[in-house]
Amino acid sequence: MMPAPPQRLGLLGGTFDPIHCGHIHAARVAQRELGLDQVHMIVAARPGHRHPPEATPEQRLAMLELACAGEQHLIADPIELNRPGKSYAADTVACIKGQYPDAELFWILGEDAYDTLTEWHRWAQLISLCHMIVLQRPGYSGCEPAALTALREAPDHTQIAKLSEAMLDLSATQIRDALRLGRAVDHWLNPAVAAYIDEQKLYVNQEDSL
Ligand code: ATP
Repeated sequence: MMPAPPQRLGLLGGTFDPIHCGHIHAARVAQRELGLDQVHMIVAARPGHRHPPEATPEQRLAMLELACAGEQHLIADPIELNRPGKSYAADTVACIKGQYPDAELFWILGEDAYDTLTEWHRWAQLISLCHMIVLQRPGYSGCEPAALTALREAPDHTQIAKLSEAMLDLSATQIRDALRLGRAVDHWLNPAVAAYIDEQKLYVNQEDSL
């Protein structure tokens, strides 16, 4: 018998350059707090709004697959690798809505990413298709765009919710920088991901984020 399609589906997009314990913790917490059937972890193959990642889309997907392998509710989703051009979340969510027409969709993101949301391609369309679930980012203090505050505080708003659960103080930038300096990063990564980085000699040469 085919498994029942998910009714409540989380989507956590990222460059995952590399995927780290902060991402996995965020996905686990959102899954549990919102009662999600699954969380799709979506590699931004060619992100539109930031500097290009160091690892290739295929390498970042391989690391994501390793990190999700033992996770009951997390799925490494290659959807953006299969689409040419820039990876826009609005296109991805529209596509997933087509695959799961009856599911309620929840886009999960850190507050640093949320604060840039009104710069994303067709952001209004994006939030018309899914709820936005905003997670704290320790050490981050930014500013919510006025347009989003207004939406979030509207009496009948359903699209935007902030979760108060503690997150890990960790970023991929921190990991890339530590690797370049030859420091240990094992406590921040799934062991299989750490081994893959080592084997592929990732994040040792370039100095863009130092
Ligand atoms: P970088 O340092 O390269 O910018 P990052 O660690 O922020 O990377 P991304 O892949 O850009 O990782 O993040 C994907 C999503 O996960 C974003 O919405 C981001 O806010 C969120 N995120 C990343 N790290 C954490 C964390 N430690 N806690 C909560 N959310 C996080």
